[in-house]
Amino acid sequence: MGVAIITGASRGIGAATAIQAAQNGYSVVVNYRSNAQAANEVVDQIISSGGTAIPIAADVGVEADVLQLFEQTLSKFGRLDALVNNAGILEPHMTLESMTVERITRVLNTNVIGTMLCAREAVKCMSTKNSGFGGGIVNVSSIAAQLGSPREYVDYAASKGAIDTFTKGLAGEVADCGIRVNAVRPGVIYTEIHASGGEPERVDRVKHNVPMQRGGTAEEVASAIIWLLSDQASYTTGALIDVSGGR
Ligand code: NAP
Repeated sequence: MGVAIITGASRGIGAATAIQAAQNGYSVVVNYRSNAQAANEVVDQIISSGGTAIPIAADVGVEADVLQLFEQTLSKFGRLDALVNNAGILEPHMTLESMTVERITRVLNTNVIGTMLCAREAVKCMSTKNSGFGGGIVNVSSIAAQLGSPREYVDYAASKGAIDTFTKGLAGEVADCGIRVNAVRPGVIYTEIHASGGEPERVDRVKHNVPMQRGGTAEEVASAIIWLLSDQASYTTGALIDVSGGR
């Protein structure tokens, strides 16, 4: 099937995507920033189910880290077929007036620059114009790109708006290089990211605003990502798929 890098795969949506990618035959690079134990547990789970996976630490917002993430992947597996730009952060709920430039920079650096750096390296590896085999990139945006997240985290929402635009632009740029680029926009999903916003139970507070009246699971988002990477989505590029229960 090929080789897939999943960024931010030590927990949440990234971990679920890594596991489903392995179930679909990919050799998986489980990228993480700092939690090696959690990443190793995801790798162990994949290997004990008969799959292939390795953990690689890299902060996607640091160019040198991104370069070694791709170098290590190529040196271990010799090729790259899929990248899921999943790593993302948000910070405590507040209005714009209270946000420091350091906070805004952290959010944009991981969510936007990190995504662009990883995509850049993936295109270099996968482009048929560079003797690659083509492949797929899926960026993990958010329904926040549409809603704007007022009084919670407009910096985060704006970073995801950038991901939507970047997805459209890059899809057009590499369509003739054998590479499809798409995004998923999750709604409220049960993961640990909400604790970073200062409200671990946020999904249960806002789920009544979701037409389906529930939060989503990491596995439900992963399924959409894996479909976008698959040959079943062979004519789909530049698409933004909402996985948000109708919100
Ligand atoms: P999560 O549970 O907080 O997991 C985040 C993952 O990203 C962890 O594996 C973390 O690794 C990694 N990470 C963070 N910063 C990184 C960096 N600079 N470099 C490499 N890895 C980094 O988050 P999640 O809820 O699964 O979210 C995954 C993606 O979905 C994010 O892009 C998020 O914005 C998006 N999303 C989530 C929701 C939701 O409701 N959960 C909704 C919409 C969109 P360490 O543990 O090692 O730090």
